[in-house]
Amino acid sequence: MSDSFVLLWGATSLSEQESDELYPLLTSSERARAASLGHVLSQRYLSGRYLARKVGGQILGQAWTSVIPVAHCCECGMDHGAITLEGTDVHISLSSSGGVVVAAGIRGKQIGVDIEQGNLGDSREVAGRTGTHSVTLGSWCEYEAVVKAMRVGNAVSIDELDPAEVSGRFTVHHATQQDRLVVAVAVSR
Ligand SMILES: [Zn+2]
Repeated sequence: MSDSFVLLWGATSLSEQESDELYPLLTSSERARAASLGHVLSQRYLSGRYLARKVGGQILGQAWTSVIPVAHCCECGMDHGAITLEGTDVHISLSSSGGVVVAAGIRGKQIGVDIEQGNLGDSREVAGRTGTHSVTLGSWCEYEAVVKAMRVGNAVSIDELDPAEVSGRFTVHHATQQDRLVVAVAVSR
């Protein structure tokens, strides 16, 4: 199977027209999640769900209005986190930073995407199991993409990831610079 994924960018709040298009399509669990959040986070959540539908529609070659994203957070049980499209093998990952949200999707594989504001070579201090490490923003972004594709989140810290295991299980599309953002994608093999 090809490793090609679909990636779309958007703003963290929808235009009035986009909101009007999306609102009637929202599932009851999406409405519940949006209602549980404050205004800014709710806007960002809905933007993510809008983009997820657009990505899903492109992957499946059908109208974006006909695909239904679902997620189940293993911590709170609500409809957020790693997304699948109902009744399909499409997986979608979302990330946001600053005013930008990105959605990446693929069929039949796990996927993780991460975006970070800044430049590839910026250094960032991050907490690991064995203390604080100084890493490049590019490396951090790739780490985030991998743990999202693994669905373990930050429960596995950057110094606990075994590079050999990661490269055996995932194709990591190395972090690239896109304007003021760094983006990385990891896809399961
Ligand atoms: Zn949750």
